Amino acid sequence: MAKHIFVTGGVVSSLGKGLTCASIGMLLEQRGLRVRLQKVDPYINVDPGTMSPFQHGEVFVLDDGAETDLDLGHYERFTNAPLTRDCNFTTGRIYQSVIQKERKGDYLGKTVQVIPHVTDEIKNSIKKLAADDVDVVITEIGGTVGDIEGLPFLEAIRQIALDIGKANVLYIHLTLIPYLKAAGEMKTKPTQHSVERLRQIGIQPDILICRTERAIAKDDIDKIALFCNVEPRAVIEERDKEFSIYEVPVSLVDHNLDQLIVDKLGMKTKPLDIDAWRDMLVRMRNPAHEVTVGVVGKYIKHNDAYKSIYEALDHAGIAESSRVVVRKIEAEEIEREGAERILSGLDGVLVPGGFDYRGSAGKIDAIRYARERKVPFFGICLGLQCAVIEFARNICGLKDANSTEFDRNTPYPVVCMLDEQFSITDKGGTMRLGSYETSLTEGSLAHQAYKSLRIAERHRHRFEFNNQYRSQFEANGLVVTGTSPNGKLVEVIELRNHPWFLAVQCHPEFKSKPTRAHPLFDSFIHACVQKREVKKKADSQRPRLAPSQPVASA
Ligand code: GLN
Repeated sequence: MAKHIFVTGGVVSSLGKGLTCASIGMLLEQRGLRVRLQKVDPYINVDPGTMSPFQHGEVFVLDDGAETDLDLGHYERFTNAPLTRDCNFTTGRIYQSVIQKERKGDYLGKTVQVIPHVTDEIKNSIKKLAADDVDVVITEIGGTVGDIEGLPFLEAIRQIALDIGKANVLYIHLTLIPYLKAAGEMKTKPTQHSVERLRQIGIQPDILICRTERAIAKDDIDKIALFCNVEPRAVIEERDKEFSIYEVPVSLVDHNLDQLIVDKLGMKTKPLDIDAWRDMLVRMRNPAHEVTVGVVGKYIKHNDAYKSIYEALDHAGIAESSRVVVRKIEAEEIEREGAERILSGLDGVLVPGGFDYRGSAGKIDAIRYARERKVPFFGICLGLQCAVIEFARNICGLKDANSTEFDRNTPYPVVCMLDEQFSITDKGGTMRLGSYETSLTEGSLAHQAYKSLRIAERHRHRFEFNNQYRSQFEANGLVVTGTSPNGKLVEVIELRNHPWFLAVQCHPEFKSKPTRAHPLFDSFIHACVQKREVKKKADSQRPRLAPSQPVASA
């Protein structure tokens, strides 16, 4: 029978529960256990698909098309656990299901209540992951202990220990130990209060993971243990990581968390093996090159809006022994200041996915700059669509060419909606979502990168390249090098006579891992490094003024 680990958060939000869960999952996997991860979110939206990236950060898409919380991105980057739409559910989804059952008459006339009907629905959704081939299910409870909306979830996880026996359940509480400069002390009281809230609900945490800026002294560990009713060895320090989030699992091992978990769950496992992970960190710390890539988007101010893109760039840097410095560029800044001013000096330009008109002109200008200046360019989803618009207007002479997403009445709809999408009224989950196959052209950049002619990537879009214009584009040098297997949908485009100009309709960033960079990101960063090296060489060969020569005044 699978064991359950529940991870709650206390004191403040944004403590990095997702990263901690992903790290625990990775450590247990590296001890040979078969792990599943899931996140429950107490908000009422049915899924994060319709939520603004400003509020919620990136929407992480799974193979099965589920639009999920970005913490699932951490789960995938750290572990090999398969993720499906059962791995992320919200209060909205739970109530949707309960109400559907009530309408069908499934409750046989009973009064439908939070306890037991909603809590049963939550328990069933959690237990669904505990299949026969699973050793441990890790469930992250979104929000902070004390939130009203989180109560049914806490009640449900309390009941699970009764249902399957406490020996099969572990409660881990992630909390904050702030340091008060004025007092020169670390403060444990907020943690005591948050654990007290949990205990009022009937949950005694087994392990406390304490987020902190500084090392926690032994006295403080003992105090937290005593007041929170846990063993001192179960008070684990999790110090802020300045270098990389990928250090988190290693530092948790330094505090014996993996051993403590398997001991407490009474599991026998093989010894931990994280050598490959440690090697990856060493490579990350010792890059041979440095490149600067501009990411041109419209949610740039929100750190999490392009999370997987930034991570995938980092992974490619690890593979290419390069530090990738990301310059985050607001597309509208290019509209105001001009591409030349904002983009000069970059070794590569990436235009990620997005929705809606705002910022599109800046993205198009950025692509023109990269095309004309032969700067490596990588377009993703909306990035492909903007590249198509740019090429249509500036090379094919199609004045005012556009996507019908931006201009319904454009004379040249080079990007438009699929016929079957025309009648959409519901916004949630109505896009082309999830994993689809692509056939690549032999010898193309994409083929060289993937080393395969048939690939599958995740999608999240409504609009498509308009095939009517395909031959016109190809005659002018923008070639289609990847399509859906039936040849109907354009998936990859590349520019001839350019060192590296490639755009995809899919979202390859979702499948990149620190230990296995995505082939397209890897190839892109490789091209950026080459560009940087050529520039360096040219700079070093440029004749310098002899010191005695007078310098002309400006
Ligand atoms: N807005 C575009 C579409 O719906 C692109 C979507 C995206 O970049 N994810 O097709």
